[in-house]
Amino acid sequence: MDEAVKRIISDRFPGEALFDHPMARITSFRVGGPADCLIYVRGIEDLRAAVDLARAHDLPVTLLGAGTNLLVRDGGIPGLAISFAKGFRSQGIRREGERDAVLWAEAGVKINSFLSYAQRGGWAGLEFLAGTPGTMGGAAAMNAGVRDREMKDVALALTFMTPDGKLKTVARDALVFRYRGLDLPAGAMICTMDIAVSRDDPAEIKERMTALLSRRKSSQPLSIPNAGSIFKNPPGDYAARLIEQSGLKGIRAGGAAISELHANFIVNLDGARAEDILQLIDWARAGVQASAGVDLETEVRVLGVDAPREGAA
Ligand SMILES: Cc1cc2nc3c(=O)[nH]c(=O)nc-3n(C[C@H](O)[C@H](O)[C@H](O)COP(=O)(O)OP(=O)(O)OC[C@H]3O[C@@H](n4cnc5c(N)ncnc54)[C@H](O)[C@@H]3O)c2cc1C
Repeated sequence: MDEAVKRIISDRFPGEALFDHPMARITSFRVGGPADCLIYVRGIEDLRAAVDLARAHDLPVTLLGAGTNLLVRDGGIPGLAISFAKGFRSQGIRREGERDAVLWAEAGVKINSFLSYAQRGGWAGLEFLAGTPGTMGGAAAMNAGVRDREMKDVALALTFMTPDGKLKTVARDALVFRYRGLDLPAGAMICTMDIAVSRDDPAEIKERMTALLSRRKSSQPLSIPNAGSIFKNPPGDYAARLIEQSGLKGIRAGGAAISELHANFIVNLDGARAEDILQLIDWARAGVQASAGVDLETEVRVLGVDAPREGAA
C-alpha cells in the first residue's frame, strides 16, 4: 500500500489502523498472511470513514468479524480489512411483551455475551448458538446454527451499510438466508439486527446451553486452533462421516491435520500455513468423491491471496 495512503488512513484512525498485520494473529485457525491494512471500526462513523477511504483510494474491502470461520491464504489480504470485533458492541431490548420480545444486537457483539444477556433476562430461543464463537454480525452473515436451527429462524430484521455509506434496513420476509450464508447486496456491511426470543425460566435456558456446550466439548477439538466445520453437510448426510469413511481422519499436511476427534474439523497442530489446510481440503474432497461420489462444499470462508512462489520475481 502506498505510503501516502497509509498516512491518510493513520490520520483518520490514529492508533487503530494496523498495517501489514498478520491475520494469523486474529483468526481462530491462527493462520493467514498479512492484511495490507486492518481497521477495527468502533461505530457507524468509523465504518463510513473506512469505506469512504477505500472508495477514494480504490482499495478492495474485506469484512471480518472475529475470524472464527475464516481461512486466510498465506499471501494475506490486499487493501482494507475492516473488522467489527472491537466495536459495534451495544445490545438491548427493542420491544417486550408478556411471552416474547425482540432483542437487538450490533454486529460486533460476541455471540456468547449476547446469549448470556438473553439468558439472564429470561429470553429463550438462542440456545442453539451456545459454544459458537464469533460475533453476531458474523453469525448473521453465515446464517450460523446447527442442523435444526439457524439464524434465519430468529432474525427479524437487519440493518446494513452499503459501500456508498447508506444505511438500509431489511425485514425478515426480504432476508434471503441459505445454508451457512445470507444473500445481501454486494459489499453490504451488517451493522445491527433484531432477534426474536420468547420468555422462559433463566435456569432452564442455562441448563440447555450447558448441555450443548458439554456435547461440543466432548466431540470437538476445542483446545487446538481450528475454524469449526470445514465442509457443509451434504443433504441427508454428515461431512464428518464421509471423511472418516474415506479413511482420511488424522491425515497430516505440514502443520495441519484432519482432526482425530471430529473429521470435519482441521486443526492447526504446529505452525500450519494456509496451503497445508488447503491441501487437506483438496484431499478430503477427492477422498469423499472417490469413496462416496459426493462433492463436498466448504463452509469455511477462504479469503485473501496465495503467497508468492519462492524464486518468483
Ligand atoms: C470451535 C468452533 C465451533 C463452531 N461451531 C459452529 C456452529 O455450530 N455453527 C455454525 O454455524 N458455525 C460454527 N462455527 C463457525 C463460526 O463460529 C460462525 O460462522 C460465526 O458466526 C462466525 O462469526 P465471526 O464473527 O467469527 O465471523 P468471521 O469468521 O470473521 O466472518 C465470517 C463471514 O462473515 C462475514 N462477516 C462478518 N461480519 C460481518 C458484517 N458485520 N457484515 C457483513 N459480513 C460480515 C465475513 O466477511 C465472512 O465472510 C464454529 C467455529 C469454531 C472455531
